[in-house]
Amino acid sequence: MCQSCALNARALSGRPCHPGNAMTRNLLTPWRLPRVLALAAAISCAGLNAIGSNEAVAAPHAPVWEVYALRYATVPAFPVHELVTGADTTRKIDIAMMFWLLKGPAGRRVLVDAGFYRQKFLDSWKPADFVRPSEVVQRFGIAPDSITDIIVSHIHWDHVDGADLFPNARIWIQRAEYEHYVGAGGAPLDAQIDTVDAAMLASLNHAGRVKLVEGDAQELLPGITAYIGGKHTFESQYVGVRTAKGTVVVASDNMYLYENLDKHVPIAQTLDAKSNLAAQDRMKKLASAPRLIVPGHDPAVFVRFKKSGRGAVRIE
Ligand SMILES: [Zn+2]
Repeated sequence: MCQSCALNARALSGRPCHPGNAMTRNLLTPWRLPRVLALAAAISCAGLNAIGSNEAVAAPHAPVWEVYALRYATVPAFPVHELVTGADTTRKIDIAMMFWLLKGPAGRRVLVDAGFYRQKFLDSWKPADFVRPSEVVQRFGIAPDSITDIIVSHIHWDHVDGADLFPNARIWIQRAEYEHYVGAGGAPLDAQIDTVDAAMLASLNHAGRVKLVEGDAQELLPGITAYIGGKHTFESQYVGVRTAKGTVVVASDNMYLYENLDKHVPIAQTLDAKSNLAAQDRMKKLASAPRLIVPGHDPAVFVRFKKSGRGAVRIE
């Protein structure tokens, strides 16, 4: 395994990582690193200690949301050990590429993450059954221009790239995440963010559409609270959502698979494994039941929950 592989840069395609291979050269370019849902360099574990479950208690009259997972693609044969620390290196899984829709009161339509759509990612990853995220939303019966908000869990291409498909959405991202990755002129400040996505975020920010979230346990909208933790990227976040069944936690890549939670094993792509486990422990306290913690790429999400149209399930 070459050094870039050791840094987690193994091609999903299973192609070997040899110097001189065109794909390998790609692996070393800044945009290639996020391609493997990758880790970064800095380590910081601010504010990630598990805290008491009483913080999960919502205000008595908090609005109630419906949570849906929407699938827009599949990446076949992804190595499980790149998702679950210490997993058998021969195991592969067809990972679900998904984002989440929160339907709330008064026409509020919120996405958690927005998938990807740019051709460079399609060319590189060749996902199966790809549907552009805006079309997935449309197919679900919601006009893309009626999406009011997008909460970006982190800046990796497969979560942020689709943000500009939703022309009226306000983009919520942790300030520390944004400032770590996006330069003033839209230049990428770290290899974890793709250059086009850094430019896109800067452009949305310039247009006044980016709302920077100021740290942990911030209620973005009544009934939707953002939590930092997991250290999938510099300041990745996840959300707790008040639903009729209690609090659902949309973990995104702060917990890749159910296996992370079930085996109490950190995600393989984290800047700080201990803080990732602490974040997962905290999710268990925040969620009203463990089944209400929704991982970032587990295809089982679409088996465990009831179908709600093509490629969609309702989380309880
Ligand atoms: Zn991801």
